[in-house]
Amino acid sequence: MAREPILRVAVDTPVPTLFDYLPPKTANGELEPGLRLTVPFGRRQVTGLLADVVSQPTIDRLRLKRAVAILDEEPVLSPGLIEMLSWAAAYYHHPPGEVFATALPAGLRRGQPQTVTTEIWFVTEAGLAQDDDALARRAPRQAELLMWLRAHPAGATYEDIADAVGDCRARLRCLRSKSFIASRTVVCDPVACPGEGSTEAPRPTPSQQKIIDAFSKDRERFSTFLINGVTGSGKTEVYLRIIEDVTARSRQALVLVPEIGLTPQLVERFRRRLKVPMTVLHSGLTDRERLDAWRLARNGTASVVIGTRSAVFAPLPDPGVIIVDEEHDSSYKQQDGFRYHARDLAVRRGQKAHIPVILGSATPSLESLHNAARGRYRIFDLTQRPGQAKPPDISVVDLRGHAVDKGFSTPLILKMQQHIDRGGQVLLFLNRRGYARALFCSACGWVAMCPRCDARMILHQGRGVLRCHHCGREQAPITACGNCSASLIAVGQGTEKIEETLADKFPDIPLGRIDRDTMHRKGARRAFIDDVLSGRIRLLIGTQMLTKGHHFPEVSLVGVINADHGLFGTDFRSDERLAQTIIQVAGRAGRAERPGEVLVQTSYPEHPLLKRLISEGYEGFAAAALDERRQAGWPPFSHLALIRTESATRDPGYQLLSEVRLAVEPICPTGVRLLGPAAAPMERRAGRFRAQLLIQAAERGPLHTLLDEMVPMIAGLPDARRVRWSIDVDPIELF
Ligand code: ADP
Ligand code: ZN
Ligand code: ZN
Repeated sequence: MAREPILRVAVDTPVPTLFDYLPPKTANGELEPGLRLTVPFGRRQVTGLLADVVSQPTIDRLRLKRAVAILDEEPVLSPGLIEMLSWAAAYYHHPPGEVFATALPAGLRRGQPQTVTTEIWFVTEAGLAQDDDALARRAPRQAELLMWLRAHPAGATYEDIADAVGDCRARLRCLRSKSFIASRTVVCDPVACPGEGSTEAPRPTPSQQKIIDAFSKDRERFSTFLINGVTGSGKTEVYLRIIEDVTARSRQALVLVPEIGLTPQLVERFRRRLKVPMTVLHSGLTDRERLDAWRLARNGTASVVIGTRSAVFAPLPDPGVIIVDEEHDSSYKQQDGFRYHARDLAVRRGQKAHIPVILGSATPSLESLHNAARGRYRIFDLTQRPGQAKPPDISVVDLRGHAVDKGFSTPLILKMQQHIDRGGQVLLFLNRRGYARALFCSACGWVAMCPRCDARMILHQGRGVLRCHHCGREQAPITACGNCSASLIAVGQGTEKIEETLADKFPDIPLGRIDRDTMHRKGARRAFIDDVLSGRIRLLIGTQMLTKGHHFPEVSLVGVINADHGLFGTDFRSDERLAQTIIQVAGRAGRAERPGEVLVQTSYPEHPLLKRLISEGYEGFAAAALDERRQAGWPPFSHLALIRTESATRDPGYQLLSEVRLAVEPICPTGVRLLGPAAAPMERRAGRFRAQLLIQAAERGPLHTLLDEMVPMIAGLPDARRVRWSIDVDPIELF
């Protein structure tokens, strides 16, 4: 007799393997990977996903347990997606069960059915024949309900009925017991967002046409396009053309956008231009909305799927292109748990599916520029804004050479006045929320620190709290020094204080602030943008939030309040981030006939990378920064993995990492270096001590060979059970 096949099942648990089971008793015929199963797991029963069917178990056949039930008729994941997820689990050295779980909506993870059903109520023959007057006399409220259902012969959901006649559960039961009405369960199909296709597409410029042509020539195979174009240069327009090409061939387009980039305006623009059904996937959806969007992608109803990071796992029966907008954005990297990079996985997915991948940015990551230089990506420049706008003029104000009042140098104030007098809008950027950066005692030097982090407490005057931006701890503001009881002074500028200073310096000019403190209300962002566009706000102050998503054509001056926070950062990527931020903020300003002017305040105008950025723009900066990376051996000229630990006291983390280092050194291939253990740049965060061991390798191959051996080895160390540890492959932040 043929032996039963072995089911390899992904279970959502932090164990780095798949689990083997025998097929359920009820199984007849072949089981397809991608189906969900109920399996016994420890003392519980859990939902697992069938990742593979093999002939040989990895444990003794006699110890195998049997799966309990099959939950699906149709697989929830396609073979292509299963392959990508298995690859990602291996590459990121993350437990496969958790990786597979990332790709499923919460309800499906918990074992709920793929389809959503609802109960429909309708009137029966008996109900139609019933004498109205008799019922109205005996039970007027039941009669009302019955009349309403007679007027809706197709039936209605409870919600619809209750909307019309009020709360009615008891009445429904009563009428059903008399057989005047009945109900049936129906499947609710999710509804895609219909594209209107009402706006006319502009004629592509020659440089846009070049990209569109290159795409149509190679649309049936994998290649990666990098579109390098300033904000407003027409990248989105190129995406729309490419999507039209793809959907016209009845294939699907997946569009990834950064967390803050997914605005209602963007979706609206897509809806107006494209005449196909679309759906949107992001972290703000309810479980039900997420399931609906997932189903629309899965069954092919949605021709266009727009989403943030995790949408890279959207199920697509027939993808034709993957587009990653603002590919440099750090929100594509998941920073905890399964630490994947959605841009990198998008490229991988395109490769497996044999379709083009389009990356776009005004400030491409150094990795992508390097890939373009090596011929792996094809780079296309969109240098001009349609309508001949010139890029903004950037200049520097040396904070050491001018009088500075509450963060504002005299030249910046004068420039602001000039632009306001000419009717322009002014945008000020500061990546620091709150009022003051620290509460400081000038008598003894004491600073109010978060008791749980190596970080200062930030004063938020508007809400009247001191808040730690790293662990979220809040407390009432204090006025006296914790050490000598002298009174404290608030030092350093946050957006709140800049707003106050502006109100003081320009009392007649309406101003608006955009940061996480002012934007948490629903619709606040939209209202802010409308106010800027209509000119009701003339002075804008904001954080990173300003750098994404929207273009403000009447802004003629951009001021970067302080560039120095980004210079000399602890991370080898700080310079790249600062340059991207300055260029992205600058790109918000100006319009076709009137380019913007940009003023950057700094105490280090001689900083070589900043100088390159000012004199030669982002490209000059990128060339110099890549040179520095090459000399220092940082990515993209090397590959990194970071082993992190977290423990309640300092020693256990170090202890574990030292053991790891000792164990790994003898098997460390040439070209792979171990750095550490060392404290994380912010050692204590949310009450836990953090340490790290950095692994750096010239080539990816040896690094992953080492990780393959190392990860099970770490898991086997006795100390690994006492300390929380994790692995970050291709980390983008070293803390
Ligand atoms: P990006 O995505 O690079 O910021 P967009 O595609 O949003 O740029 O284009 C900026 C503006 O220019 C939009 O208002 C867009 O409609 C317009 N635009 C883009 N391409 C063209 C074109 N070929 N002709 C005329 N206007 C264009
Ligand atoms: Zn003091
Ligand atoms: Zn804290």
